[in-house]
Amino acid sequence: MAIQAGDAGLAYLDYNATAPMRPQALEAVLAALRSVGNASSIHVPGRDAAARVDTGRRQLADLIGCMPGEIIFTSGATEANNLALRAAYATGGMLVTTAVEHPAVLETARSVTADRPEKLIVLPVDEAGILDLEPLIEVCRSGRVAIVSVMLANNETGVLTDLVPVVKVAREAGALVHTDATQYVGRLPLDLTELDVDLLSLSAHKFGGPQGAGALFVRRGAPLPHRPLLTGGGQERGWRAGTLNVPGIAGLGAAAEAARLRLSEEVPRVQALRDTIEAGLLSRLPGCRINGIPAPRLPGVTSVTIPGLPADAVLAAMPEIAASEGSACASGAPSPSHVLLAMGRSREEADSTIRFSCGYATTSRDIQRALDAAVRAVQEVRSAIKATQLSRAVR
Ligand code: PMP
Repeated sequence: MAIQAGDAGLAYLDYNATAPMRPQALEAVLAALRSVGNASSIHVPGRDAAARVDTGRRQLADLIGCMPGEIIFTSGATEANNLALRAAYATGGMLVTTAVEHPAVLETARSVTADRPEKLIVLPVDEAGILDLEPLIEVCRSGRVAIVSVMLANNETGVLTDLVPVVKVAREAGALVHTDATQYVGRLPLDLTELDVDLLSLSAHKFGGPQGAGALFVRRGAPLPHRPLLTGGGQERGWRAGTLNVPGIAGLGAAAEAARLRLSEEVPRVQALRDTIEAGLLSRLPGCRINGIPAPRLPGVTSVTIPGLPADAVLAAMPEIAASEGSACASGAPSPSHVLLAMGRSREEADSTIRFSCGYATTSRDIQRALDAAVRAVQEVRSAIKATQLSRAVR
């Protein structure tokens, strides 16, 4: 049975983990799946598959403001981040990133610098999750920097980075600039003719495309040594060998086009929904705290700490709401959110944090249900904790 975001018994508020497929994307995926043809073949079915890839590439280029030839299709942002960091680091010098990056950047950065850990510089953020420029400026003065990698929007808190000054400092130091824009693309307008980064990673399933499809933007002329992760048939200009994922790319493109056409209407609507849930949580759950305020944030995300209450217990008490504990990618792992710790929260606070993330198909009914369910779940968990404390005291 398929579970859909609009199902009657469910309020799906986990867009930062994965967004529901946009209908246009689903159609494009199905059409490609029904069609035979390898995009590298020169016969008619092959050319049909190649045309779907070309369309997807153009649609993505239109969404992010680049040229189609600057896009390398990948399996997602994890692969795009690996490709970017591993190639850029090969130029020689330090790899500079931030403490709040997704593991797809942080773990990759640790892996590439494993034999020379002193070449990895992880910059701190303040209480609101904002990057301080001073340490970046100092690092750039202290020696050669190969790459500066700073995310555009944080997956856990939605905090946005103003990349313009970061790019300026990095460029003056002769470094390549990469951004993990996975949570930003399709959620806020982006124009790569203005944002002067060399490399940008994205993943289709965060903006209504299919899972397992993504891309790396590489600015034309960027001095990036050719370091593919996969060798083989030479697809994607030798950067990403392997038969192209035509259904994935077609779905990515269709989602990109739908997002581009609707963004100006979706952004204020989604932000109003997020503001409603935040206002409701703050007024009905005294003592709770929203992470990331007063930084500029993505329109659809709220990260709320409810002191003293384990997030997993609260989530378990509201099974009709699909939301996350910290970051979904880290769920199941016993360690607390490195993002919240980097923002100065305690381990207990990090463990008491829930993320609600909404998007293009969220309704005000979803928000109302989530709010009511959260208030009820918090009461239930509080009572259960009190009852346990009481029975321990009696024993
Ligand atoms: N970067 C960020 C900021 C993300 O949120 C995610 C997905 N949670 C990724 C990278 C990895 O994306 P994917 O799993 O689609 O490769």
